[in-house]
Amino acid sequence: MERTLVLIKPDAVEQNIIGNIISCYESAGLKVTALKMEQVERKVAEEHYKEHYGKSFYNSLIEFIIRSPLCALILEGKDCIDKVREINGATNPKEQKEGTIRKKYAKGITENCVHASDSVESSEREIKIWFPNLNNKK
Ligand code: GDP
Repeated sequence: MERTLVLIKPDAVEQNIIGNIISCYESAGLKVTALKMEQVERKVAEEHYKEHYGKSFYNSLIEFIIRSPLCALILEGKDCIDKVREINGATNPKEQKEGTIRKKYAKGITENCVHASDSVESSEREIKIWFPNLNNKK
């Protein structure tokens, strides 16, 4: 079964909307198979976002992700990588559709409540970063 890595980012935890966000995924038929909450170390945030190293928004992105606790979860289900990105909404606030998590709750392009893997390869890479002790064989 396909898996994806989701982060409920510090801004969402601060807004007390963890439950609302998880409900969106569960209502779409996806299953939470791992879940943890932590204030992440800088080196984990840097590994997660290494593709953005050197970009203009990189430093503010890292500072945001480490500023307070976040939730990391693994979701499983058919086509869950695409489904979760649809439920989350676009990166660009101008492109966010009604009903998406980001349209409802995001404050801007940085404080956008959620992350989800964008491919099978990135989901496997990200699951190893956030859940290194899990049996990572599919
Ligand atoms: P996502 O999959 O929609 O989260 O987008 P990406 O993985 O491409 O980028 C990671 C995060 O970096 C996004 O959620 C945004 O918070 C931030 N980001 C991406 N592109 C930009 C940008 O052009 N400007 C700014 N300020 N932030 C960006």
